[in-house]
Amino acid sequence: MKLHEYESKDVLAKVGVPVPAGEVTSDGDEARAIAERLGGKVVVKAQVLMGGRGKAGGVKLFDDAASAGAFARELIGKTLVSIQNPQGMVVEKVLVAEQIDIAEEYYLSVLVDRAAAKVVVMISAKGGMDIEEVAHDDPGAIVRLHVDPSWGLADFQIRKAVREARIPKPAQSQMVQMIKRLVEAFMDTDADLIEINPCAWTPEGRLVAADAKVSIDDNALYRHEGYRQNADDAAEDPIEAEAARRGIAYVRLDGDIGVIGNGAGLVMCSLDEIASAGGRPADFLDVGGGAQAERVKSCVELVLMDPNVKGLLINIFGGITRCDEVARGILAAFDELNVTIPVVARIEGTAAEEGRRLLEGSRLVPAETMQDAARKIVELAYA
Ligand code: GDP
Ligand code: MN
Repeated sequence: MKLHEYESKDVLAKVGVPVPAGEVTSDGDEARAIAERLGGKVVVKAQVLMGGRGKAGGVKLFDDAASAGAFARELIGKTLVSIQNPQGMVVEKVLVAEQIDIAEEYYLSVLVDRAAAKVVVMISAKGGMDIEEVAHDDPGAIVRLHVDPSWGLADFQIRKAVREARIPKPAQSQMVQMIKRLVEAFMDTDADLIEINPCAWTPEGRLVAADAKVSIDDNALYRHEGYRQNADDAAEDPIEAEAARRGIAYVRLDGDIGVIGNGAGLVMCSLDEIASAGGRPADFLDVGGGAQAERVKSCVELVLMDPNVKGLLINIFGGITRCDEVARGILAAFDELNVTIPVVARIEGTAAEEGRRLLEGSRLVPAETMQDAARKIVELAYA
């Protein structure tokens, strides 16, 4: 999950990387007030998750608070289009930050080198511009430094890489410190990318992160409560957002037959079976391993939030998941939720007998096989 620039800078500030003072807002008057507090000489920056904001007109320097405020007002609500993002993104927030005097622009990033199966630091004295362009035109200008998974990085290794990247002598020691802190932040936040471009060298001899991009590994979001909240907000579909809050793997599709299964493979199989029976699946939902009745009920509730859903197929192959728990969850859903659509279930595996017995006499339609279940739900839903 990509963090906005202002959130990324918070991450960096926490580990001691120098970032320009600034505040974020979605209001033009507030932007002007922030600019005044910062002394008027500021930069106003659109907070959209896309590259090339500068070229797209989303970054501008000002000498007085009034014009900074006017630009912010103009920017908020506008759609920014860049080469990297031709369909455009609406600006909801702007960052008003202290304007840095820049003598030189360098490039720094930390990311995962999948081929080497290691974290890698990339350093270049050619910052400010598109790094892909540098990689293409002058590949030697980018120095790569792999982080040993058990030893980490020693100072001498970082110093050597910084020299190789031809970072000028006066900036070298601050650059070494910054790299150490970036690697620390990368590990602590479970990031999959940290990028500083430009890493600004000021005429007074300070190294500052003038722009920052941090992306957190989605699979580690559960370890970072604060970011998970963001992920919920970032989800565009309201049901997907609710699923994220409940910790349920759910993807909304555009059909009308709800699907609940356990295990991603089995769920995908169910989608295929529905399609070959002539139906259109409304979602992908994996209840996960070892689901308890309460969770199963919560999943049913989630699927029913989609008003297009005309029928529900439940496909469970019990392993660690016990079918009697699943059955109890389905019964609880029937009891507590207003389920009016047909529900067909194929339940096999651990405690399947008990599960089926529990469901006898309920409004659930049992099925022998996946194919049988798909056929039945398509028939009932489209009747
Ligand atoms: P990006 O285009 O989305 O990568 O946005 P950046 O934050 O990198 O801004 C684009 C360019 O604006 C940078 O490469 C800088 O040249 C310039 N810029 C951004 N902030 C400042 C600042 O505080 N002072 C100065 N002088 N230039 C800045
Ligand atoms: Mn940038």
